[in-house]
Amino acid sequence: MSDAPSGRLVLEGVAKRFGAIQALDEVALAIEPGEVLAVTGPSGAGKTTLCRLIAGLERPDRGRLTLGGADLAQVPARRRRVAYLFESYALFPHLSVFENAASPLRAPGQLPPLGAGELSERVQQALDLLGIGHLAGRLPAELSGGQKQRVALARALVQEGATATLLDEPISHLDAKLRHRLRGEIKRRLAARPAPAIWSTPDGLEALSVGDRVAVLIDGRIEQLATPQEIWERPASVRVARLIGDPPMSLVEGRVAQGEGPPALVTGEGARLPLQPSLAAGLLQLAGREAVTLGLKPRAIRFLPLGEAGAGSLPQVEIYTVEPFGKHAIVSARIGAALLRAKTAGNCGLAVGQRVGLQLESDGLMVFDGRSGRAIE
Ligand code: ATP
Repeated sequence: MSDAPSGRLVLEGVAKRFGAIQALDEVALAIEPGEVLAVTGPSGAGKTTLCRLIAGLERPDRGRLTLGGADLAQVPARRRRVAYLFESYALFPHLSVFENAASPLRAPGQLPPLGAGELSERVQQALDLLGIGHLAGRLPAELSGGQKQRVALARALVQEGATATLLDEPISHLDAKLRHRLRGEIKRRLAARPAPAIWSTPDGLEALSVGDRVAVLIDGRIEQLATPQEIWERPASVRVARLIGDPPMSLVEGRVAQGEGPPALVTGEGARLPLQPSLAAGLLQLAGREAVTLGLKPRAIRFLPLGEAGAGSLPQVEIYTVEPFGKHAIVSARIGAALLRAKTAGNCGLAVGQRVGLQLESDGLMVFDGRSGRAIE
């Protein structure tokens, strides 16, 4: 095969095991040319293994990978022409920053072949974009971790003719300001390529901001594959809910009890989260069920100072933490072992230890099955 295939990237029933560890299991997904699929999940979820299989550095135990309809099992790694930013950077220690970034463009079989001027311009542009143009002559040993990561990123970005782009945690070692600026710049460039792209990150919010769609990978399986909006609004399970949100949903495990007094969610430690009648209707159908986990988005939780109108009739809780972030603050209270986190105005005036009324809103509230952790419709 002389030319690398290009087009849609499809994985069907892909599995990979390392000894006792099932690194990937039953992974099925399709990525269109120009589409960025963000893959997020905790450390060890299988993100790197997924990239390595697509690049041809590992072989799947089961399943099929195709690119533009061509079976990748028949295409050796060196012929795939995949742009791959390794989490470990994999820079050549004896080559300068410039030569590291230029290396894939000098590789045999590079299509279309570039003239020296065009090559030099493209590499320098990528280095400048990433703020490391002035380091072009340095060796990797003379760079900080974040600078090395940007060299690896430049090397992936210059490969405009790549059949697929795989960025394994591309901005994890950059400072917050740079991460913010580069997210959009990199996304623009990937969208302009006629090739599918994967952007792996353990940061759920980064995944939502860069992915056209997001795959949440947990223990080697895709837990949810959907648009950022869908994942934000309706995480498919408790495991997804824990990874997403700013702050993430508050999760309270318990049983819905309806006896004397108002209905409540009673936690394992015996703490009661009272459910106001407006919320309780749907939840009461779950009364007596084994166990549920109530998911509360920050907007579903309100803490009312006791002097305020209506606060007197609400159940009372004690403020546990107050974290100001300028315009807003994250304020929490405890119900048993669970933490209820609300987003308030920065000048909310609430203080640690203060007793307040707890008001729950039905908008932003989700119920999950206590055993499987899956969302209940
Ligand atoms: P991180 O965010 O920490 O990089 P990841 O999501 O990229 O994690 P992988 O590196 O794909 O996860 O690893 C998935 C699982 O497979 C882990 O449990 C890891 O220890 C295991 N694993 C990966 N490569 C190998 C290998 N070559 N030999 C043995 N186990 C491996």
